[in-house]
Amino acid sequence: MRVRRSPAGRAVVSGLRMAIVGIDLGTTNSLVSVWQDGKAVLIPNALGETLTPSVVGIDAKGEVVIGREARERLVTHADSTIGSFKRWMGTARETTLARGRVFRPEELSALILRSLKTDAEAFLGTEVKEAVISVPAYFNDLQRKATLDAGRLAGLKVERLINEPTAAALAYGLGEVSEGKFLVFDLGGGTFDVSILDKYEGVMEVRATAGDNFLGGNDFTEALTALAMRKLGKSYGDLSRPEQARVSRAAEAGKVGLSRARQSELTIRFDDGEQTVMLDRDEFEAECAPLLRRLRHPLERAIRDSSLRTQEIDQVVLVGGATRMPMIRALVTRLMGRLPLSNIDPDTTVCLGATVQSALKSRDAALEDVVMTDVCPYTLGIAVLDRRDRGGQMVVAPLLERNSTVPVSRSDQFFTVADKQAQIAVEVYQGENLRPSDNIYLGKIDVPVPVKPAGEEGIDVRFTYDINGALEVEVTVLSTKVKKVAIFQNTSGLSEAELKVRFAALESIKMPPREQAENKALIARAERLYAEATGDTRQELRALITDFESEISRGDPRDWPDLRQRLTEMLNAVERMPILPE
Ligand code: AMP
Repeated sequence: MRVRRSPAGRAVVSGLRMAIVGIDLGTTNSLVSVWQDGKAVLIPNALGETLTPSVVGIDAKGEVVIGREARERLVTHADSTIGSFKRWMGTARETTLARGRVFRPEELSALILRSLKTDAEAFLGTEVKEAVISVPAYFNDLQRKATLDAGRLAGLKVERLINEPTAAALAYGLGEVSEGKFLVFDLGGGTFDVSILDKYEGVMEVRATAGDNFLGGNDFTEALTALAMRKLGKSYGDLSRPEQARVSRAAEAGKVGLSRARQSELTIRFDDGEQTVMLDRDEFEAECAPLLRRLRHPLERAIRDSSLRTQEIDQVVLVGGATRMPMIRALVTRLMGRLPLSNIDPDTTVCLGATVQSALKSRDAALEDVVMTDVCPYTLGIAVLDRRDRGGQMVVAPLLERNSTVPVSRSDQFFTVADKQAQIAVEVYQGENLRPSDNIYLGKIDVPVPVKPAGEEGIDVRFTYDINGALEVEVTVLSTKVKKVAIFQNTSGLSEAELKVRFAALESIKMPPREQAENKALIARAERLYAEATGDTRQELRALITDFESEISRGDPRDWPDLRQRLTEMLNAVERMPILPE
């Protein structure tokens, strides 16, 4: 990505133009923010919170449930609620949430985006149609397309996808970092990204990026679950789905607890009674050793690809909720030989950066001085026949290596392999592997060539990767100079017709009224506690829930805040965090 200085005098009077929002569509939580009065401002949801859990459910009335309320329902309505679906973006995996209602990952993401769009519209008092959405730097083409589709399904024009670490750097770099090279270590709920950036003379250059799309805080929760199950002599796979949901929730709380204290006590209700297990930070860290090893590789690769030595990196920035675990800070400190910066909020940085990007797009005067360059995260190449003396197999010939600074353009020549060959098929792949089938297929151009003996006719293939992550492939027949051009990236994954049908289907799912959001989230929490409790506590909770519901339905909405406050205090008393002091 590269953003040029905006010409002087192109300042836009805020409020007079349509707002572009910045969105962090996270595995665990999502956020939206907008550029106002020279800075990025986080937008609260209907509950007044800026973090909306990326969890979606469908209730008995067929209405969609999003965010905190849905997160509570993961325990009580495990079959009709889903989280962590960002992990499945770019795959055709489907989830059934209600009878006859099947969702693809981009549709679930679209429901989150629609909810954030509604929050932004309520906050701004105007329609929001455009967004910059952040994606893991290491998202491949299919995952990026799925994200673009999610935007369209939510009725948003996605102005730009911005790499999460780049967004973090943009949010951070504008104010804090003077000049220098820095490494962004981003461990979110489901993905891990490392980027190395260089800031000099008003230019922010991404030197390298690497990562793992299937490594994040969730894996640490799973490790803690495995440890707890072993200590309890139980097998997670043998538990019922509601039991599994209760275990996962307890494990998540236990993991967060172990970031604060050296020990954490987990109390879990199984169908045959409640059990308690005490966990120790050291044993949790030992359980996570394989995960820590997996973090090492992308870190080393990014440093190697950046052609820098570890000592040359001036600062290390931690982003993503999972970097709050002490073992992550310790690992980064040990590997990088310095303490990471700690004065930034790992939850909000990416979203704020996406908004800085949206402001750069609309050429806000406050940002005149920033120039940003980015890299392409994967190698791009075409399939060719390897030399016959080596077996004549199909392999990928790279044209643009990963971490080339974009925009970039490179070409190479290829020749016919058979006599009488009348056509050359240029198949384009993305990825690091030798064999085409191990990479991601982006598309194909068939180029007719004059018939000549093998090897005597050929083509020039030029790849140009632009600032928006679009790949242009230009093929020129060497003898005739006839050209064929195709653009391969950032087009939608679903067909127009399919998008239309799915858009209409999503539109038909009702969103609950905003004014009820806080009441519903509170009831969902009380119901979750009910499901987790036993005996007298259950009776007490049942009375609290039914009383609250009847008071809400009878009472004046002006009394709702007091009623909610009362119930919240009682629920807080029931839900004491089972964590021992350090
Ligand atoms: P993100 O996608 O950046 O919101 O990161 C979410 C991940 O961070 C989830 O896996 C959370 O469990 C994890 N997380 C958030 N806070 C903490 C904490 N205090 N200790 C450990 N993990 C945390």
